[in-house]
Amino acid sequence: MNENKWESSVRKVVPYIPGEQPQFSDVIKLNTNENPYPPAPAVRKVLEDFDHGRMRLYPDPDSAVLTNAIAKRYDLKPSQIFVGVGSDDVLSVAFMTFFGSDKPILFPNITYSFYDVWADVYRIPYRQIPLKNDFTIDPEDYKTENGGIVIANPNAPTGVAAPLEMIEDIVNANPDSVVIVDEAYVDFGGESCLPLIEKYENLLVVQTFSKSRSMAGMRIGFAMGSEKLIKYMNDVKFSINSYTMNHITQLCGAEAMTDEKYFRETVDKIIEVRERSKARLAELGFKFTDSKANFIFASPVKKSAKYVFEELKKRRIFVRYWNKPIICDYLRITVGTDEEMEKLFEALEDIING
Ligand SMILES: *Cc1c(COP(=O)(O)O)cnc(C)c1O
Repeated sequence: MNENKWESSVRKVVPYIPGEQPQFSDVIKLNTNENPYPPAPAVRKVLEDFDHGRMRLYPDPDSAVLTNAIAKRYDLKPSQIFVGVGSDDVLSVAFMTFFGSDKPILFPNITYSFYDVWADVYRIPYRQIPLKNDFTIDPEDYKTENGGIVIANPNAPTGVAAPLEMIEDIVNANPDSVVIVDEAYVDFGGESCLPLIEKYENLLVVQTFSKSRSMAGMRIGFAMGSEKLIKYMNDVKFSINSYTMNHITQLCGAEAMTDEKYFRETVDKIIEVRERSKARLAELGFKFTDSKANFIFASPVKKSAKYVFEELKKRRIFVRYWNKPIICDYLRITVGTDEEMEKLFEALEDIING
């Protein structure tokens, strides 16, 4: 490669590749685990009532209105909550803050593919631990010297959930490092390890508004943990950029966190459609994990996953496919509305049996 001298000191990274965001509207989009329902009705009211003159002022650097709403919902102190611009931002700050050891951090080989990207960009050594054949974690693998641990629970893209006792087993065995549990999908049927934060000062639980609260486009994520952990994260955050979260987003997020009834209704609906979709996939001969997330990780068996992915795309139905070892026989299908899933299954019937 023809490299100029100045390029030798460039921080070079291989970036994370997000799922496609096709910019036309006549597609069925089941590829990035967005929620098919709009956010809580009170969010619309915030936008309607918003005084645009307010934009000349900086937003509240502490995002107090949002932090307080989250604290109230989870029965915590505001000082136990860190908010950021999506949980990607929160996780990135957490990696930078907590993973300063020379020892490798540990996370599964099949998991959210941003973890190794952050580790690379922050020069954090890491080791990826193979999942078992059924895509579950063996907690014994995490009882070894390490500079930190990250576990997505339920895991992505498999949807497999680890029981609370397994997470506690891992946290309990690692008093000398910070354990991050990424609960992006926990509201769809996983078991949150939030109750453990009172007992373990080194446990950080990360959640997001992007999936269960229908606000991927607003970018809100949050972490919950001991006051000590949260203080360390805020110190790093305020050393980089104090005003990451804009004013409107803070207000909208607070409303979305407050409407418990709407939250339950939409989450329950997604769970119901997911379980019905599993039965339909079984009829078509797919094999799949028992996903507790808002997606299904399924292998077509009768046809290759790549072929089904491409055929669906021709029909303007987007799902996620990775041409990578171990998971190349699988598709990750986001749970959409009843109507969207009906169209998906019509297409799948045609592709698999047609
Ligand atoms: C979607 C997702 C995130 C990030 O979501 P944000 O939109 O940045 O909040 C983090 N972790 C996992 C496992 C996810 O699937």
